[in-house]
Amino acid sequence: MSDRGKVFVITGPSGVGKGTLIKRLLAAVPELELSVSATTRDPRAGEQDGRDYHFLTEDEFQRRVDGDHFLEFATYSGNRYGTLRSAVIKRLDQGRSVVLEIEVQGASQVRQAMPEAIQIFIAPPDPGVLRERLVTRATDSEEEIEKRLRRAEVELEAQVDFPHVVVNDDVQEAAAELEKLVRSQLSLH
Ligand code: 5GP
Repeated sequence: MSDRGKVFVITGPSGVGKGTLIKRLLAAVPELELSVSATTRDPRAGEQDGRDYHFLTEDEFQRRVDGDHFLEFATYSGNRYGTLRSAVIKRLDQGRSVVLEIEVQGASQVRQAMPEAIQIFIAPPDPGVLRERLVTRATDSEEEIEKRLRRAEVELEAQVDFPHVVVNDDVQEAAAELEKLVRSQLSLH
């Protein structure tokens, strides 16, 4: 099965810059594909159904939970998020590698279900930058930012469970480190 693709789980607290680093990673390593998650949260301005997320109602999400369609799923800040198993398996069978951008509970479920997945934690240089980035990003309300920061404290503690940690201090350096790590796992040069 050496032709089977690999799964890269990339996690880290909200505001750490995962999205930016993953965008750069996907641009630099065309062998990778981002898994589009399902969520019950409302789309943000500019987000498209099927591209950014599969936006589902609570009932639609629950039906997929009941049907065992999710490789992993979790509740984050009052909304549900999950990775659809079939999309991941199909790509792996085609020899393609997949990136899952998920929070830490989901990462822990993938660790159980797919111990061979490569788990990467993106950490802030210090927790204070998370607030700055969430405020500057301006995609969430003040209340939502506070919720995400409270959650970040728990997420930062989970860092010890990850074999690979990339500190996002300088974005160029962090992107280069992430790319190097992924290329080495895929035996690319
Ligand atoms: P956001 O609302 O900012 O798009 O995402 C909130 C959090 O949910 C982020 O930490 C993001 O990585 C995570 N997330 C996105 N998709 C999934 C998923 O399919 N499963 C899990 N467990 N977390 C996800």
